[in-house]
Amino acid sequence: MQVQAAVAESKGAPLVVQDLELDDELREREVLVRVVACAVCRADILARDQAIPFPLPGVLGHEGTGVVERVGPRVAAVRAGDHVIMSFPSDGTCRNCLRGRPRWCESGGRLMWSGRRLDGSGSALRRDGTEVGGHLFQQSAFASHVIATEMNVVAVPERLPLDRFVLGCGIMTGAGGVLNALRPGPGDSIVVFGAGGVGTSAVMAAKLANCPHVLVVEPHPGRCETARSLGATHTLDPRNDDVPERVRQITGHGAEFSLICTSDRAVLRQALAVLGDGGTCGVIGDPGADVDVSFEIASIIGSGKTIHGINGGEVVAQTFLPWLIEAHERGVFPFEKIIARYDFSDINTALRDSDTGTTIKPVLIMPG
Ligand SMILES: [Zn+2]
Ligand SMILES: [Zn+2]
Repeated sequence: MQVQAAVAESKGAPLVVQDLELDDELREREVLVRVVACAVCRADILARDQAIPFPLPGVLGHEGTGVVERVGPRVAAVRAGDHVIMSFPSDGTCRNCLRGRPRWCESGGRLMWSGRRLDGSGSALRRDGTEVGGHLFQQSAFASHVIATEMNVVAVPERLPLDRFVLGCGIMTGAGGVLNALRPGPGDSIVVFGAGGVGTSAVMAAKLANCPHVLVVEPHPGRCETARSLGATHTLDPRNDDVPERVRQITGHGAEFSLICTSDRAVLRQALAVLGDGGTCGVIGDPGADVDVSFEIASIIGSGKTIHGINGGEVVAQTFLPWLIEAHERGVFPFEKIIARYDFSDINTALRDSDTGTTIKPVLIMPG
């Protein structure tokens, strides 16, 4: 079938919306989804710029929502007509998947970044007979139609407006990072580094967890204002404030948790320094492949600090997203405050606004 998709031609180049051929003969556990909307996430920009390798020319986009049009063999989780949020992929069969930890799926890297299908074969996308990279997160949802898998779709009630519920990656990651991975207890404080889509979602989650101090370290004034409106009790400017000192003044002893939600590699030392003894630093922000950071080993030994890498909020999307949607409906997870909608044809503006911080979470609305 013919689909409309935004193609990233080469490293750093603007995306071009054009018609591609999609081999829509579905294989085991695959589903065909008509895309309604897809949000923009930092990882799309990293892949476009090849800081994360992904085969180009290729189609990005990994926070799609849509309607299932058809299902392939051996699909039990959804059926045609279901409204779905697309999320992280997993194979459903490896040791970690079977242990209920699909975010650590042993095939995760391949299913997210190789540009190939679930069964390992090449991309289903073609242009003039030549393969175009696809299946980013088993979606590549900067497109009118995509092949997803039953493992990375979450069926949601039809009453939800799919052009807003783009919860599949950044928002789920920030919320799950706090509520599911770090799990602050009564009286625990948290310092969130970066107030983009992940960071602001972490702030909403920290408020939901009743953290008495929710501190945000972010240079962009507009993002600080949004973070305060979502529950940040303090915002600090890393360019002017002595961040560890301010955190100690505010919390009295250092924070129990810090969470890195920026791809700025320089943040790790500070994110450790703001912790009190026994504190945990969660790391979500990915500076890209092959990036080393350094810190003093002694700074974590005597004080018993932990560095905790967190992927996708460590959640099972099929159980976490319905809970998050319910929290949103109760008014305690107001993610609509961070999204702004763009026509699909304005995709490069959306990517730029995400990159510059003008918009926290741009959402592309597919035509038709
Ligand atoms: Zn797996
Ligand atoms: Zn993402």
